[in-house]
Amino acid sequence: MNEFSLIAKYFTHRTRHTLLGVGDDAALIRPRRGHVLAISADMLVEGRHFFKGADPEALGHKTLAVNLSDLAAMGAKPRWATLALALPKADARWLAAFSRGFMRLARAHDVDLIGGDTTRGPLNLCVQIMGEVPASKALRRSGARAGDDVWVSGTLGDAALAVAARSKKIIIKKQQLISASLRLDKPSPRVAMGNALRGVARSAIDISDGLLADLGHLCEQSRVAAVVEWDALPRSTLMRAMASDAVVQNAVLAGGDDYELCFTAPVAKRSAVQRAGTRTRTKVTRIGRIVHAPAGATGVVVVDSDGLPLRILKRGFDHFG
Ligand code: ADP
Ligand code: MG
Repeated sequence: MNEFSLIAKYFTHRTRHTLLGVGDDAALIRPRRGHVLAISADMLVEGRHFFKGADPEALGHKTLAVNLSDLAAMGAKPRWATLALALPKADARWLAAFSRGFMRLARAHDVDLIGGDTTRGPLNLCVQIMGEVPASKALRRSGARAGDDVWVSGTLGDAALAVAARSKKIIIKKQQLISASLRLDKPSPRVAMGNALRGVARSAIDISDGLLADLGHLCEQSRVAAVVEWDALPRSTLMRAMASDAVVQNAVLAGGDDYELCFTAPVAKRSAVQRAGTRTRTKVTRIGRIVHAPAGATGVVVVDSDGLPLRILKRGFDHFG
């Protein structure tokens, strides 16, 4: 199998809304009238983002899922993707499983794979995702205003529990590990929810590095601060079964890889947010509010049931921190 037969066999698929796809020097696409392109790239590196020997089908899913999540956070509809791969070797079984996982999710979201690059090297998976959003309707990090509610989708911290269990930092039951691993390995990007939030939410971000870190980014760009109620944070059954307070706090507040959406909306939009959740079958939870940044200091405070600030153990993930 050479480079070109590999591309032909595993990465050349029928496209549905592309002028020219895989095979030429560049692909050609045309966004729909009245829309702008939303573009983002995300890379997964072996040993950094996933364990050596990770299941290739799940990796194919996750490589695309993390990118879809970024477009979900913009309120954009994903339409096209390119895939740049560095592979240690051309392993037919690995490639078949990887492309199966990738393409299954791509088809589910009606995303065309339109090009990429394939080279030999340490395992590295990079997707560029392109989508459409009606001009001026994109959800930005910078739109939050004092008085907004802060919301999150789904539950927080389950992926972090899977990481902690796999690296033997915590011990959980086999069944619990299976359900946490599903969150880590096969995240469900909140694309439908993000699209339903256009015109409802004022700002949004996806949670890839932990709630505190990502809500912190949103606050910084909006020049506001946030007060989050610890008791309001949505926890899975597994999380509620965890005994250690420190493990729970780290996972819920600073656990990466959740790919939930955190967004803000005016109080007047509470029922519109609930309807968006119901319509897209996505659990949504109001977790706090946006406040004026005290003396220019943006940031996130987490308070207990008495309104007192919690002592934070860990704030989130930073590759160079
Ligand atoms: P070039 O030499 O012009 O960069 P390549 O030989 O790298 O082109 O790639 C040939 C074609 O295959 C191009 O259309 C490219 O976009 C596509 N391609 C390469 N690798 C992948 C991949 N992993 N997934 C999808 N398309 C790919
Ligand atoms: Mg090339």
